[in-house]
Amino acid sequence: MIGITVLGATGSIGISTLDVLSQHQDRYQVLALTANTQVDKMLALVHQHQPKYVVMADPDAAEKLELSLRSAALSVVILSGVAGLEQVSALDEVTVVMAAIVGGAGLLPTLAAVKAGKRVLLANKEALVMSGSVLMNAAQESGAVLLPVDSEHNAIFQCLPEHYADGLAHVGVKRLLLTASGGPLRNLSASELYEVTPDQACAHPNWVMGRKISVDSASMMNKGLEVIEACWLFNTSVDTIKVVIHPQSVIHSMVEYVDGSILAQLGSPDMRTPIAHALAWPERITAGVKPLNLFDVARLDFEPPDLGRFPCLRLACEAAKQGGTATTILNAANEVAVAAFLEGTIRFTHLPKIIEQTLEAVSSTGAQTLAEILSADELARQAATRYITTVD
Ligand code: NAD
Ligand code: MG
Repeated sequence: MIGITVLGATGSIGISTLDVLSQHQDRYQVLALTANTQVDKMLALVHQHQPKYVVMADPDAAEKLELSLRSAALSVVILSGVAGLEQVSALDEVTVVMAAIVGGAGLLPTLAAVKAGKRVLLANKEALVMSGSVLMNAAQESGAVLLPVDSEHNAIFQCLPEHYADGLAHVGVKRLLLTASGGPLRNLSASELYEVTPDQACAHPNWVMGRKISVDSASMMNKGLEVIEACWLFNTSVDTIKVVIHPQSVIHSMVEYVDGSILAQLGSPDMRTPIAHALAWPERITAGVKPLNLFDVARLDFEPPDLGRFPCLRLACEAAKQGGTATTILNAANEVAVAAFLEGTIRFTHLPKIIEQTLEAVSSTGAQTLAEILSADELARQAATRYITTVD
């Protein structure tokens, strides 16, 4: 049995992961589940999957869960806080850690799993965007295997030959073609974008996801974060990555080779495919996903991104080129701005303005240590919080 910890178990990726795991109970044992505040949802998951450990990041939520479990006479070790998250990421009996906490809150638990040499299934792209060098160096030191769950990166991973880590040029790769649906607002004018509400931004045409990544998809910041994620995962630079708008989300990304070949991975837009792939790699297991019917798909469209209406993608590529803590600052400003947009404090079109102002105000430094990263993250959050009150 392969022991697994699911970080962010109550979220969209967490639930999809547990769905795949429940189809393969002969192979995987759920040892630990974590969440932030959602006690009722966690309670149902504990009954269903019977983990040995549960972590609620929020201490009050941990207390409430403890009370409910006591009355249900279920014996589970309940932990709380970042220390609890780090503990279940590094347990000896755990082989696989699904890193599916949203945002910068996922960094320390993901890093703990990497340092402990686990097989880390990485959904939490913000961790890599914040601190790519620290995570990648830690993986090299511990021997942790980092497998991409983000559908585009998982697709690229599937289209790459085995020894790509020595450099993409060595294995004849010319470019990575990162596909993007363009999100629910792809065809809106700049003035229409100003009026967009949180619910409209979260109404993704092809994927059902958490609200933060849904807003990122609508602003194209998600693609920007994914460009940075691809640079770290595939040891390459922004110049080798081309973003391609492909509204049907059937091709999940492509790899272009020097001989003119382009390899693509196709499938229904369902995260259980990349999750099952990363879980079983190099083997294959069923995922419960509806097979793709190419006759229903019928056509595939492609167009270039519009950086004028969607400046977040440009800002992310510029931060990636700048390097150091620029991407940490970008990520922190984006998290603060997206939270303010979801609360109704700012407009959709304010998102790139706040991020750009923060990038101008907070200087980028080296990003070799966790201390440098956490300090840049904190400074950027403070600056972005200030700009929220003055943006227009
Ligand atoms: P979600 O909002 O649905 O779930 C987030 C999870 O993180 C929840 O379990 C929540 O309890 C936990 N969490 C939130 N704040 C926390 C904190 N402070 N401490 C500890 N736990 C906390 O998000 P999601 O859509 O499942 O996305 C999770 C990650 O996967 C994100 O980084 C996202 O970018 C990435 N991702 C998601 C999808 C998708 O289809 N949903 C696709 C690709 C990548
Ligand atoms: Mg993606």
